[in-house]
Amino acid sequence: MRQETTATPVEEQSADIIVAGAGSTGLAAALAFAKAGVRVKLIGRIPPPLPGRTVALFEASLRFLDQLGALDRVRALGCRIEAIRMIDDTDQLLPVPELALRASEVGLPALGVNISNDELVGVLLDLARSCSLIDFIDAEIVDYDFSDRAVAFLRDGQRIVARLIVAADGRTSRARSVAGIDVKEWTYPQVALTMMLRHEFPHNFQSTEYHTRSGPFTLVPLPATDAAPHRSSLVWLMNVDDARRRLAKPREELEFEIEDYAKSEFGLMKIDSDIGQFRMGGMQVSQHARGRLALAGETCHVFPPIGAQGLNLSLRDVADLEDCLASVDLANDRELSRALARYDRHRRADIGFRTHGVDILNRSLIIPYLPVDLFRGASFIAVAALGPLRRAIIREGILPHLALPRLMRQPTAASEMALRRTA
Ligand SMILES: Cc1cc2nc3c(=O)[nH]c(=O)nc-3n(C[C@H](O)[C@H](O)[C@H](O)COP(=O)(O)OP(=O)(O)OC[C@H]3O[C@@H](n4cnc5c(N)ncnc54)[C@H](O)[C@@H]3O)c2cc1C
Repeated sequence: MRQETTATPVEEQSADIIVAGAGSTGLAAALAFAKAGVRVKLIGRIPPPLPGRTVALFEASLRFLDQLGALDRVRALGCRIEAIRMIDDTDQLLPVPELALRASEVGLPALGVNISNDELVGVLLDLARSCSLIDFIDAEIVDYDFSDRAVAFLRDGQRIVARLIVAADGRTSRARSVAGIDVKEWTYPQVALTMMLRHEFPHNFQSTEYHTRSGPFTLVPLPATDAAPHRSSLVWLMNVDDARRRLAKPREELEFEIEDYAKSEFGLMKIDSDIGQFRMGGMQVSQHARGRLALAGETCHVFPPIGAQGLNLSLRDVADLEDCLASVDLANDRELSRALARYDRHRRADIGFRTHGVDILNRSLIIPYLPVDLFRGASFIAVAALGPLRRAIIREGILPHLALPRLMRQPTAASEMALRRTA
């Protein structure tokens, strides 16, 4: 471990910024600040493996990962997503057409990349470990003090002092509660089952969402392996009793039910991983920063995995915070508080929009109410029929237009070539 100072007692160390939590958000934050030349203490336990969990990362996130030096490995380990198909499977009154959102419509080679959560964390962790400005401390933070300086107290007795703490310690964030930031939480009567699948027919680099009465059933493409040329990950939202029933079933029966849900479009299905189960809930915070604390990732937003927005939003938190703090003297209270107020304003708009959008779509599926069904159906019909509307929705999903942070503005080499060809 790098010693920051020699004059202070062994148990007290200092840094410009402490990043609390070493999940995807915390790792990305440490790398982004280090890229800006800031000394970072990244403190957190390495996340345990998440069974069957993958994450679809879209254009803005890929640009950001490119800036962090992670994109080549993410692309090599993941699978590109060229289109998202949405199929209404609610048996509602209005005949709703299938909706396809294609990267080619907005001049891009792909909408994004789907990669296993564990592999993404592995890529970011390797980069963080090899970065001289990041001191990674694999430890738990048990308490904080924000009264004067920002101080993190570790379980082993160490005390780390910094100008700013970036909390990326997840939905039950200790940093957020010590700082006294209020949260609003709610639950949905749903569980997400996650798993990797092998199937008979190709996915054609398309993600397929079947919108059912219990929530979306979403297949997202995975790369081929020697043993399995056609693979996808599944995120399947359902009510709690159905989840219990399905988990107790013999594997073959569950595989048959999955094939049935996918209308046999992918042929025979084989489960190729452990099955993860995640209770669905939502959370919003009253403030995204207070004093010398800034929140990022699931410390400040939680919603169901619909439209693959969660980590994409978290990476925008990080890129936005880095942007707001650019050229700010962290030792200057006024400058820092002005920068964090700006961060709070930006995040309130972006996070509020995504949280409410996902909430409305989810409730419109699980609450069978004719006017809502008709509205959802009519929206599908309009988006399927109107090219400009469809292209605006695709762009908003993968590259939101509102104040895109600097680290997300530079197209990747592949996108730039494709955009030039279509210009
Ligand atoms: C089923 C499912 C599918 C999803 N699919 C997608 C998708 O396709 N695309 C997408 O963008 N998003 C997706 N998401 C959302 C995404 O996975 C999450 O937003 C993301 O993993 C959150 O990362 P995080 O780093 O913010 O939080 P976490 O992964 O929870 O990391 C928090 C870290 O902080 C550490 N920590 C906690 N307390 C302390 C402490 N006191 N001291 C030190 N460390 C601490 C923890 O150990 C942990 O490592 C999905 C979510 C679910 C549930």
